Amino acid sequence: MTDNIFNEARKRLHKAMKYMNISTDVEEQLKYPKMSIAASLEIRMDDGNRRAFKAFRVRYDDTRGPTKGGIRYHPDVNLNEVMSLAFWMTFKTAVVNLPFGGAKGGICVNPKELSPAELERLSRAYIQAFRDFIGPNKDIPAPDIYTNPMIMGWMANEYSKIMGMYCPAVITGKPIALGGSKGRHDATGRGGFYVLNILSERLNLHPETTTVALQGFGNAATHCAKLLHEKGYRVVAISDSKGAIYSPDGIDPVSMIRYKQEYKSITNIPLSDNIQTITNTQLLELPVDVLIPAALENVITEENAHNIQAKVILELANGPVNNAADEILIEKGCIIVPDILANAGGVTVSYFEWVQNQTCYYWSSSEVYDKLKTIMDTEALKIWGIKTDHDCDLRTAAYIHALSRLSEAIEASGTHAYFSKKD
Ligand code: NAD
Repeated sequence: MTDNIFNEARKRLHKAMKYMNISTDVEEQLKYPKMSIAASLEIRMDDGNRRAFKAFRVRYDDTRGPTKGGIRYHPDVNLNEVMSLAFWMTFKTAVVNLPFGGAKGGICVNPKELSPAELERLSRAYIQAFRDFIGPNKDIPAPDIYTNPMIMGWMANEYSKIMGMYCPAVITGKPIALGGSKGRHDATGRGGFYVLNILSERLNLHPETTTVALQGFGNAATHCAKLLHEKGYRVVAISDSKGAIYSPDGIDPVSMIRYKQEYKSITNIPLSDNIQTITNTQLLELPVDVLIPAALENVITEENAHNIQAKVILELANGPVNNAADEILIEKGCIIVPDILANAGGVTVSYFEWVQNQTCYYWSSSEVYDKLKTIMDTEALKIWGIKTDHDCDLRTAAYIHALSRLSEAIEASGTHAYFSKKD
């Protein structure tokens, strides 16, 4: 993670702005986060010690609605990273036209080192610290790396206790029994699958002859892998933080999901002869048609971009390809389906969950999937159209698309031209 990740994130906005005639007001409004807050979360550990954990929440922009974004538990979480993620969320919610702005949060922790009771105390402490910063019509958190439905349930419960009333709409990604939405658990992977599928002809991909490698085998990747496998794509490699496995003949993601639960890491799974272990670096450079980074930021940079052989990169992770790598890959003819479109399925179903919580009327899985598919297909095709019209890369097209919606909202309150009229 580089210190200038936020500046790097903003460069993508500036690239899109070159194709558009937007007012300086828009540029000013989107220059910095609306609000950032840091806190020290102090909890009692099981051994009696008291420990403090750094935590952050950033609300980037709320012109289009309350801010929305996940909470990440990771030892490397820092303010710069959270700001970049909140910035991306602002564009992501605009890409899929949700009535939300962008936010993000995180705790500097390795959750694998905590007991379940410590994890619960820490998650509740996050809500106690940020209780005035969040709210169902203000800022709505959700899961991200190493946070899950149970954690979201604890957090919703803590907020409700503080407010003295039931407030499920303060957070999304909750267990279904606690006001979660059907279809939220697989929404990010499913959304990415819908996007790849609707663009497959344009990307010249035919499932039966298309090989796929996924980096990271968590929430986003597992569900996408399963749907791709069902559609006939050949998943040849998967990985987790410990390492990767590869088989040119194909891997059955459904069995791997089961094995990963049993053996904890992909690298502990007893392998048949046709499956070999490789490193995460090797996985990224495999001769595959589609590469799906679904773990952390900045895994494809100027250091390894020249070695990437995939024709298409579907960014299920946020920010896996840096700007320098973008240029190298575009030059090589690789098409990158950008994060703000590819992984927007998660926030879209989070929006559905929020709507269901606010109306107390709950939808079936098929209603959720149909609505998700309509949104992902529609926005993916619009973005492809912008790419064609402007003869630009797909990421820039997605930013142009989001920026048009953001600038329309910002300019609706008046622009420099309106306020400087002297008649
Ligand atoms: P997760 O915690 O469920 O899974 C993360 C996976 O990445 C795990 O398999 C982990 O072992 C692996 N991993 C961690 N460090 C790694 C490393 N250095 N190399 C290779 N693999 C590594 O998280 P998730 O929710 O699937 O999120 C993954 C990515 O998708 C993140 O970038 C997140 O921001 C993005 N995303 C998630 C959602 C969502 O709804 N879950 C929505 C939008 C975007």
